[in-house]
Amino acid sequence: MKSRLHPSKRKLSAWLETGGPDDVDAHVAGCERCAASLEALAVPEPTVGDALAAFLAPPDDLVDRINDRISDSLRSRADLKMFAELVGIPLPTAQLLLTERPLDE
Ligand SMILES: [Zn+2]
Repeated sequence: MKSRLHPSKRKLSAWLETGGPDDVDAHVAGCERCAASLEALAVPEPTVGDALAAFLAPPDDLVDRINDRISDSLRSRADLKMFAELVGIPLPTAQLLLTERPLDE
């Protein structure tokens, strides 16, 4: 290991971006402590944008939940139509009797 002082974090950051100056280059090649500092510097810190994106991301099961709701709605409509045909009343009448809102909404 070189006997010179460890470069500052600012110098190490600059070295990460530019690869220079040469004295830092020579030092980090043989210094485990600076290698560890460089690893820590190389990991990007999460940004506010990252945090916001994670917060606003839809739940993983959103598509499944939407598909389930659509299936339930279609099944209810089919059941209502079958009921209307069995009882012999028009579908709109069955809708009025059995639902709180028209199915077309
Ligand atoms: Zn060092």
